Amino acid sequence: MEQKPTINFGAGPAKLPQSVLLQAQKEFLSYNGLGISVLEMSHRSSDFTKILSKAESLMRELLNIPDNYKVMFLQGGGSGQFSAVPLNLIGLKEDRCADYLVTGTWSAKAAKEAEKYGKVNIVHPKLDSYTKIPDPSIWTLNPSASYVYYCCNETVHGVEYNFIPETNGVVLVSDMSSNFLSRPVDVSKFGLIFAGAQKNVGCAGVTVVIVREDLLGHSLKECPIVLDYKVQAEMNSLYNTPPCFSIYIMSLVLEWIKNNGGSIAMENLNKQKSSMIYDLINNSDGFYVCPVGMNCRSRMNVPFRLRTEEGDEALEKEFLDGATKRGMISLKGHRSVGGIRVSLYNAVTLEDTEALASYMKEFQKEHM
Ligand code: PLP
Repeated sequence: MEQKPTINFGAGPAKLPQSVLLQAQKEFLSYNGLGISVLEMSHRSSDFTKILSKAESLMRELLNIPDNYKVMFLQGGGSGQFSAVPLNLIGLKEDRCADYLVTGTWSAKAAKEAEKYGKVNIVHPKLDSYTKIPDPSIWTLNPSASYVYYCCNETVHGVEYNFIPETNGVVLVSDMSSNFLSRPVDVSKFGLIFAGAQKNVGCAGVTVVIVREDLLGHSLKECPIVLDYKVQAEMNSLYNTPPCFSIYIMSLVLEWIKNNGGSIAMENLNKQKSSMIYDLINNSDGFYVCPVGMNCRSRMNVPFRLRTEEGDEALEKEFLDGATKRGMISLKGHRSVGGIRVSLYNAVTLEDTEALASYMKEFQKEHM
């Protein structure tokens, strides 16, 4: 029997462009005719230096990163940055206080971690469910905070900011792990942006940190040296062995983004893909239910339940089983939320999304 091609709608690690995988496969045993794999290459060799500079220059080009920002490729994942951010930045001002917006699992985790190093002010009333972004008019920002932190796209709950928070001059920090390079971003509005690569720009192991130069050199004395931005920035991410292979894969993905029209083209595609699924949900007469507010629905992660906001678990299982039979995998919602979650990162194509949409229509017709 002919096997159906697999379509990966996973939330991360996630689908990579096919051409990137093929290129990595071709170069796997002997990179650039050297007779060794990138896996075997010294991180101080001239060949790896070229890979690292290629990744950095593509990143700078794709995001139009101003010259007064450093770009680093670090280990420790997004979660490592939950610690690194306060360790490096909470000491910027004497009060050692930081403002956090908590709109989902990931910003909640970041805020909890920051509490180890200083005072954390959650700038809005606690949310009973992570389905909206509190209106900025009710935020109580602290002018003497060292920074304001938010997670630009909450991967678990599918809540995405479609605006950049206004902080009245206080340093703005954003976790862009799950919507990085899915749309253009004005880097100059931020003190720091970080993103794990394993959703939109590569594989697990490397985390990109983009930081304004004047914010370097303020780390707390207990900051582990590998997390110290000044040390890593001065050493071009080579204080210790970096995640070489992950950086190499990222350089291929960045090249793929560039060759496919850059962040503007990614945004156009992501708008089309996500509208296709949201329109279908909105027009399903309540068969598919997305609990997230209309003005903050994520283009990257679309969570929904079947029949009611609480879902119908038996029917959802049937939906997932049917999807798997059609080669569509990793659609199960996060264990804390349940239901279905469709992740539509850059490498997921329009055709992949169409295949899912037509399955959703068919499933609704059979079960309405
Ligand atoms: N931030 C966001 C938005 C995420 O989606 C994730 C993981 O999925 C993390 C942070 C944590 O990343 P890591 O598992 O690399 O520590």
